[in-house]
Amino acid sequence: MEKQVGIIGAGIGGLIACKHLLEKGIKPVVFEARSEIGGVWCSQTLGSTKLQTPKNYYQFSDFPWPSSIKENFPHHTQVLNHILAFAHHFNLLSYIKLNTKVVGIDDVCVDGGPKDSAWKWNVFLQDSCHPCSTTQVYQVDFVILCIGKYSDLAYLPDFPMNEGPEIFHGKVLHSMDYAAMDHDQASELIKDKKVTVVGFQKSAVDVAAEIARTNDVDIFKICEDLSQVGIHPLKKYRMLPKHRFLRQIASCKLTILPSDFYKMARGGSIILRKSQNIGCCKNGSIVEGKELPSDVVVFATGYRSEDKLKGIFTSSEFQKFIMGSSTPFYRECVHPRIPQLAILGYSDSRSIMFTAEMRSKWLAHFLARNVKLPDTEEMEEDTIKWQKCMAYYAGESGYKRFCVSVLLQIYSNDQLCKDMGCNPWRKKWLRSELFSPYEAQ
Ligand SMILES: Cc1cc2nc3c(=O)[nH]c(=O)nc-3n(C[C@H](O)[C@H](O)[C@H](O)COP(=O)(O)OP(=O)(O)OC[C@H]3O[C@@H](n4cnc5c(N)ncnc54)[C@H](O)[C@@H]3O)c2cc1C
Repeated sequence: MEKQVGIIGAGIGGLIACKHLLEKGIKPVVFEARSEIGGVWCSQTLGSTKLQTPKNYYQFSDFPWPSSIKENFPHHTQVLNHILAFAHHFNLLSYIKLNTKVVGIDDVCVDGGPKDSAWKWNVFLQDSCHPCSTTQVYQVDFVILCIGKYSDLAYLPDFPMNEGPEIFHGKVLHSMDYAAMDHDQASELIKDKKVTVVGFQKSAVDVAAEIARTNDVDIFKICEDLSQVGIHPLKKYRMLPKHRFLRQIASCKLTILPSDFYKMARGGSIILRKSQNIGCCKNGSIVEGKELPSDVVVFATGYRSEDKLKGIFTSSEFQKFIMGSSTPFYRECVHPRIPQLAILGYSDSRSIMFTAEMRSKWLAHFLARNVKLPDTEEMEEDTIKWQKCMAYYAGESGYKRFCVSVLLQIYSNDQLCKDMGCNPWRKKWLRSELFSPYEAQ
């Protein structure tokens, strides 16, 4: 009988997974909470958002960017159009159930016996347009979670006692809520207002630059180890990171600043500040013990991606296996203790396209052939080795982010190729294998 596979999320990860399963003859069902596909590219962009990865690194391997896109960093509307074109081209849309939010998944033993091959997932579905309607249950053999790491659940820093956002008389919001506003709403919110943006990563600098085109903005980098690019200009603002630039590159955590960012900083419409912590007061924020008046505070402080992942599981048994948003997974996508489930889009990499494609190919290969993965112990051993390896590459700088650096990524891809019985060599000769560009051949 054909395996039933449920994919949760129709962002880039979910679409890629869907395409690769179809290629192997598996017809998945994709559940998408929103009314559109494309994930963050349809829901979380500012007017000025552009791709910050050069487009050659953010490209489907079998569906290149159209020649009409000349920019190296296409605008978000171009990115979304390209994703939609990909979905149309590979006929993915008929497999996607829009407005269908997965409110939980849980294991179920279909024959009432111990967990074995008769084991399935119950997927609990809610109509996003009618949240009060009865939850539907859909049963699948395998789940691929593509719910995205940078959306939905906002992370806010811990505030000192009595200095939380509730004390502030102005407006507090998260960058994702600002991004979700349409142009008129956003203009109305910031009109003639003094705005403070907290954070110093991509969303923060983008929001600050967008607002600074019409207003004055204070932008905060809260802790010493938050990262940024453009080391020399930042020296002037006492905002140099502790880690080295190369470490940052190796950890795939590079922020491309919006155009004119430093010009706006020099001109005073963006004021850069560093602080160990931040609190709120009636009239604004408290930075290093001093009150800083503002009307609107935007927290661009990231997402609770670990909680998001945990929240999908109904049972606390599975929830407790998710430890940290960088929980090590076997082959970067399978938790050894959560069977019949894979997670895409949670491992950090330079190109989500490439990592999602390789893992989707690998999953499709196993699912189509009904091949069992190694047992839990074996996967755990491998995962621990992999984690040590990543820790080694992350170095001792205290810079925490584990990421599959380029060399590790090549090694990891070779492992996936070997698992699938493919030759990991891409070139005919050792010299070109070692020294010529790493690309499909
Ligand atoms: C503004 C912005 C700019 C970015 N720019 C870049 C860039 O330049 N380069 C780069 O490499 N990365 C970038 N990223 C990271 C980006 O998240 C990834 O590149 C990629 O788009 C993530 O795809 P995804 O499918 O994993 O997740 P998402 O795009 O987040 O898609 C997840 C989908 O799952 C759905 N979903 C979630 N939970 C449920 C549920 N319970 N039930 C049903 N559906 C659900 C969501 O509605 C969403 O459609 C950017 C992110 C943001 C927010």
